[in-house]
Amino acid sequence: MRGRPPTLAFGVIGAVLMVIAAIQATHLLWDYAHADKDIAAAAARRADTALRMLQALHTQTMAHRVEADDNDPVVQTFDATMARYSHDGSDVALWMVMGPKVAAWQLASHNRTIETPRDAVDRQVLARAREVQSYDHDVLRLSRPVVLGQGAAADARCMSCHGGRMGLRPGDVIGAYSARTTTGAERAAWWQSYRDQAWLVGGLAVMGALALSLYLRRALLLPLAHLAGETERMARGLIEDPVDTGGRRDEIGRIGGALEDFRNTLVQKRALSDYNAYLASHDHLTGLPNRTAFARTLKEGLRLATAGHGKLACAVIDLDRFKHVNDRYGHEVGDALLRSVGRTLRETLLPGETVARLGGDEFAACRVCDTDEDLARFVARLEAAVSVPFTWNAITLTASASIGFAVCPDDGLRIEQLLNNADLAMYRAKAEPHCLSARYDRDMDERARHRSALAADLSHAVERGEIVVHYQAQNDTRSGRVIGYEALARWIHPDRGLISPGEFIPLAEETGAIVAIGEFVLREACRLAAANREGICVAVNVSAVQLNEGDFSHIVHQALVETGLSPARLELELTETALVTNRDRALHILRRLKALGVQIAIDDFGVGYSSLETISLFPIDKIKVDRSFVSAFEADPKSRSLLKAIMTIGESLQVPILAEGVETPSQLAFLRSVGCAQVQGYLFDQPRLRHRLAFDIPEDPAARVGAA
Ligand code: C2E
Ligand code: CA
Ligand code: CA
Repeated sequence: MRGRPPTLAFGVIGAVLMVIAAIQATHLLWDYAHADKDIAAAAARRADTALRMLQALHTQTMAHRVEADDNDPVVQTFDATMARYSHDGSDVALWMVMGPKVAAWQLASHNRTIETPRDAVDRQVLARAREVQSYDHDVLRLSRPVVLGQGAAADARCMSCHGGRMGLRPGDVIGAYSARTTTGAERAAWWQSYRDQAWLVGGLAVMGALALSLYLRRALLLPLAHLAGETERMARGLIEDPVDTGGRRDEIGRIGGALEDFRNTLVQKRALSDYNAYLASHDHLTGLPNRTAFARTLKEGLRLATAGHGKLACAVIDLDRFKHVNDRYGHEVGDALLRSVGRTLRETLLPGETVARLGGDEFAACRVCDTDEDLARFVARLEAAVSVPFTWNAITLTASASIGFAVCPDDGLRIEQLLNNADLAMYRAKAEPHCLSARYDRDMDERARHRSALAADLSHAVERGEIVVHYQAQNDTRSGRVIGYEALARWIHPDRGLISPGEFIPLAEETGAIVAIGEFVLREACRLAAANREGICVAVNVSAVQLNEGDFSHIVHQALVETGLSPARLELELTETALVTNRDRALHILRRLKALGVQIAIDDFGVGYSSLETISLFPIDKIKVDRSFVSAFEADPKSRSLLKAIMTIGESLQVPILAEGVETPSQLAFLRSVGCAQVQGYLFDQPRLRHRLAFDIPEDPAARVGAA
């Protein structure tokens, strides 16, 4: 929409030319309408001039004739003139006729040159004494009477001659002059000039129309065509380039402006829908595709794999202990860790591979592999990517993850099946220490089925009376005296018999059944301990789930009230994980439990986070060192020094240390030597079903130590 100055010039020139042409055309029309009249008038003028000339010549001749004869040169000039105008070919014919009195007199005088009327017009003029003009086609006839006493006929000589000789009186008609002209020449001339003018007007009109059409073309047609093109482009979805309005402020400019506004709206709408589509298919934290988008990629991979173009490997990646990172360092660090893992995973990708965040700390990846080596390399790259250390401010964490993968068509043909199977494999990898990844196999299905059947049974275990409590003694290291018992749950399954807590407690924690089981064990332990009159303590294990569900301190309080057990004789064993998972809540509950007078022990110390912060922050009455330290110390000097260090910590915090899993006299001897206050283990006692506490203690293991 450029070229404004020439556009305007063309417009102005065109308009001026058209106006001139229109005015001229009007004139031409007017002329045409009056053409006959004008031509007749021109012919009449010519005839009139000729008549005047005739009259003048005749008057002069008559003046001479009075005294001269026919040979007079004046008379000869007159005759010659009349002769010239009387022949038929001439344009103007002139003649004179005599009135009746003059003609009669001439006849009486035997004059032979009598000019009598030639036709009816001459007779009419003579009879009426009035000028007559008639027009017939191209022929104009003009006749004028000569009246005695008027014009040249008023001359005294004429009056006396005609009055005296012929008896005419003033007012009588002496004769008439007649002229006949043809108008062909006028008409031809008129048409010639008319045609010339018409050509000129036509030329002006054509030039004006040309200039105007150029103006309209440049000012209207081209911009409109341009805008139509822009509209079509928009309709086809091509909205990247702005609409050029050429800076015009007229209607075209307004249409262009409106179109540009419309385009901007479309651009915004498209951006919004692109953004929404992005949001709908991407995870906002890591920018990776989300579950929906990943499912689409899997679908495409499945299509290829089922058509025989390679195998689709689907990996599910779950961060280990992510919850701990969140709880311990805050969500900001947790988010940063997820972003970092997302980034390293994305960076490790090769063309044709996809990684996505399924939610929480769960990622997934897939690719179509041609060979088993491809698959192995793919998994190895994922393993390496999730093991990259991550630094946040001063904190450096090495994220570890468990990767489970399943392959189509071997391990499944549907998306959900593949993801479920990869999930099962991931749980297998998680369950096995030092194992980063695992591939799905059919046994996992079996185990998963077994697990869900077990979970269903477990939900009714307490109400069906299938949970029983075994007790294992805790002894004073020096004297071997029983100082308390740990309550340990057992599940007597109607079909499968005794199931160890190692198997069903994690399941119960997952399903939430642990709340009912824990409460049952707590009441049972309190009930049995309350019956012991020697003031023996009872230790009850508490899961992190129990701390987080309901009002745990209230449940403990009720158990104590209902059984009448002194709070000081109840010890609750909590793992570090349970404490740090929800540190503030744990601290709050622990304070309330302490307020009740209950004892708190840290269980499995050394295998969790073992931070000094945990034991210094929480109100702790006992530290239970995990049995892995005890079993390992003989072979591993590091465990030995760790044990010694824990003893020193206990000493400085004035918290007694209990060593778990003491099986041999030499272990006991070492623990004694490092100053460990309490022990628990098969060397002293096996967990057993008991009806009373402290009555059926085996023989003093100290004696056995002595024997060893
Ligand atoms: P834990 O709290 O560390 O309990 C000690 C475990 O070590 C018990 O296994 C006990 O039988 C075993 N043990 C004791 N002395 C020895 C020894 O000398 N050598 C060896 N190898 N093992 C010994 P158990 O009864 O199978 O319990 C396993 C775990 O199940 C417990 O570990 C505890 O974390 C959990 N658990 C048991 N009962 C309950 C319960 O009522 N509530 C909760 N929340 N957890 C429970
Ligand atoms: Ca325990
Ligand atoms: Ca333990």
